Amino acid sequence: MSRAAARTEALRPLAAADAPGLCQRFEGASAEAVLEAVLTDPRFGRVALVSSFGAESAVLLHLVARIDRSVPVLLVDTGKLFPETLAYAEALAAHLDLRDLRHVRPEAEQLAGQDPTGLRWSYDPDGCCAIRKVAPLEAALAGFDLSISGRKRHQAHTRARLALFEPDGARLKLNPLAGWTREMLAAHMAHHALPPHPLVAAGYASIGCSPCTSPVLPGEDPRAGRWRGWDKTECGIHGRGSEPAF
Ligand code: SF4
Repeated sequence: MSRAAARTEALRPLAAADAPGLCQRFEGASAEAVLEAVLTDPRFGRVALVSSFGAESAVLLHLVARIDRSVPVLLVDTGKLFPETLAYAEALAAHLDLRDLRHVRPEAEQLAGQDPTGLRWSYDPDGCCAIRKVAPLEAALAGFDLSISGRKRHQAHTRARLALFEPDGARLKLNPLAGWTREMLAAHMAHHALPPHPLVAAGYASIGCSPCTSPVLPGEDPRAGRWRGWDKTECGIHGRGSEPAF
C-alpha cells in the first residue's frame, strides 16, 4: 500500500464491515481502553450509549462518564418500565454527571393503533417489544454511527459468543463488557460505591418492563425472571448482529 493510500485508510470512517478487524485490534484490551478509543477517535463518528438502567447498568455508565459526560445516553422508555427504573435513571445520571440522558419512547399513534389496550405484552410479547422497544430505538439510533451496549457473555447462553464489536445494520455496536463476569461487575460497583437499582435488593437480577420481569430464585439464571413462562429470552433490539435473533 502506498503512503497516500495508507493515509487515506487511516482517516476512513469506520463502519459495520470493520467489526471483525476491530475485534482483532482490541483483543485483550480493557473495557476502559476500548471506550477511550471509541469516544475520542473521530473515525467512530457519532456515538450513543444505550442503557436499560437495570441491575448492572451503573458499571458501563460509570466507565463512559469518566471519559465523556456529554455522550448521549438512550433509555428506551417503553411506557411499561418500573417507576423505580425511571427514578433510578434520573438519580444515577445526576450522580455520574451524565449530561445527555434521552428517553426514547414509542409513537403515540403507533401505540393507539397496535396496542390500544396496553395489554399486548400479555398475548404477543414479541409484537409488544417490536412496537415499544425495537422501532423507537431504531429511529433514535438513525443519527448515530456506533452504539454502546452493556451486554455480557455470562448473562445467558444466547450471549455466550457475544463479540466485542459487531455489525448492527450499517452501524457498529460495541459491547465493552462482553467478557466481564458477575464478580467483576460487583467488585466495580463496590469499589466505586455506585448506587444499585432499588429492585436488586428485592431479588430482581435482571430488570426490564414491569409486566415481563419477576424476581429470580437462588440458583436461577439471572435472566430467568424475564418473560417468565414464555419461550422468549431477548427483546429483539440486539437481533441483527453476530448474536442470533430472538
Ligand atoms: S418487555 Fe414486555 S412490556 Fe416491555 S416491550 Fe417487551 S413485551 Fe412489552
